[in-house]
Amino acid sequence: MKLYNTLTTEIQEFVPQRDPIGVYVCGITPYDTTHLGHAFTYSIADVLIRYLEFKGRPVRYVQNVTDVDDDLLRVAGERQEDWRRMGDRWTSHYIEDMAALNVRPPDVLPRATDVLPQMIASIEKLLAAGMAYEAGGGVYFDLAAWPAYGKLSKLSTDQMLPIANERGNRPDDPHKRRPLDFVLWQAQAPGEPAWDSPWGAGRPGWHIECSTMASQNLGQTVDLHAGGEDLVFPHHESEIAQIEPLTGQPFASHWLHVAPVHHLGAKMSKSLGNLIMVRELLDRWSPDTIRLYLAGHHYRESWTHDPAGLEAAGRQAEALSAAAAFDGSQAKLSSADAAPSGSQGKPFLPDDLVSEFTQAMDRDLNIPAALAALRRLAEAIVAAAHQGRAVAPAQKSLRTLAGLLGLRLGSAGPEGRVVEGWGRHLTRFREQLVSG
Ligand SMILES: [Zn+2]
Repeated sequence: MKLYNTLTTEIQEFVPQRDPIGVYVCGITPYDTTHLGHAFTYSIADVLIRYLEFKGRPVRYVQNVTDVDDDLLRVAGERQEDWRRMGDRWTSHYIEDMAALNVRPPDVLPRATDVLPQMIASIEKLLAAGMAYEAGGGVYFDLAAWPAYGKLSKLSTDQMLPIANERGNRPDDPHKRRPLDFVLWQAQAPGEPAWDSPWGAGRPGWHIECSTMASQNLGQTVDLHAGGEDLVFPHHESEIAQIEPLTGQPFASHWLHVAPVHHLGAKMSKSLGNLIMVRELLDRWSPDTIRLYLAGHHYRESWTHDPAGLEAAGRQAEALSAAAAFDGSQAKLSSADAAPSGSQGKPFLPDDLVSEFTQAMDRDLNIPAALAALRRLAEAIVAAAHQGRAVAPAQKSLRTLAGLLGLRLGSAGPEGRVVEGWGRHLTRFREQLVSG
C-alpha cells in the first residue's frame, strides 16, 4: 500500500522490514480527558493496523504513556493531586474510551517511568558519542553535533525556535549552549519527582522517553512511527536526533502524522479548552456512529467538528447495520425489482465494490473513499436481496470491511480481543490506583 511519508514528503510504497511490522504511535500525556482529536489520531492508527493485518501482515503495536512531563506535573500541582495517581486515573479513563470505540489495543503500552534505567543508558550513550553535554545537573542534546536537525520538519533554525518555545522548550535555561539544545535529563526542580542518575537527581526529557520506548520494544528501525501532526517538531525531530547518530540507521522508515481537529475556530487542545470529550459523545452516540464520523475525514486534512456530521454518521450506522442483517425473505419481490430470469437465487458477489474499498485504502489510507465504497456495498446488498438473490456472502464481505473501520454493525459491545487487550492494560493502571 502507498502512504504519505512526512520524511520524504511523498506518497510512497510502505515497505515494512520487520515481521511482525513494528508500529509506534505516540500516546497520551494523562492529565486530562480523551478528546475528539485523540480519538481521530488513534482511530486512524487503528484502521491502518487492522488493514495491514487484513492483508496478512501481523503488527506489533507499541503506544506509550507519557506519565512524567512538564504539563502533567504542573496540572497535578495545581490540583494538589499526586502526579502518579492522576496519571493512572486519566490513563484508565483513556483506556475505557478507546475500548468503547472498539480501537485495537496496543500490544505494549509502556509508561515512561517503567523505562528509567533504559533512558539513562540512552543518555549515557549520547554523552559518550559526543552528542550531548552535562551542565548544572542536567544533560542537553548538542545540536551543533547534529546538522541533520530539521530533516523531518523541514524547518529552518529561525522557524524552529518559536515553535519549540510553545511546546516546552526553555530558551533561557542558563545551562544550555544554544537556545534550541533540548533537555535529555533535567535536574530536579523543587517539589518535582526525581530519580537518581549519574548526573544527580532529576527526570528524563520528553523526547528521550519515546525514542527509548520505541527502540526498546521495536528495535533499531521502527517500520512506522506515527502521532499527531503537532508532534513533528520538536518531538519527532528530536527523537531522530537521539537515535540516528548512535545507530547510523533510520530511526523510522516511515513517518505518519494525523491532522488536527478544530472546534470554535481553533485546533482542539487542552490549553485552549475547546475540547469535545469522547466520553460525552459516547453518552449520546453509538460507538459505530462516532467511528463513522471519524472515518469520514482523511487523516492528512484538518477538519472542524460539526454535530450535523454526527447525525449523518448515525444514519449511516443504521443503514450499514440494516444491510448486514437484511434477511432476503423480508424482501418483497415486485415485477420491477425482480432479477432477470435465471439470476434469482444466484449469489450476489460485489467484487468490484470490495476492490474499490481496498484500492482506496491502498492509496494513502483514503478511509473516506473506502467508506463510500462500503456504503454502496450496503445499498447493493439491499437491492440484490430485493431481487431475490443470495446476499449472505456479500453480507460477510460487508462485515469484514466494516470491521476494518472498527465498526460492529449491531453486534453488542467491542470485539473480544479489544476488551481483553485493553482490559489487560487497564489492570496495571488500576492496580496502581488501588495500591497508590
Ligand atoms: Zn512520543
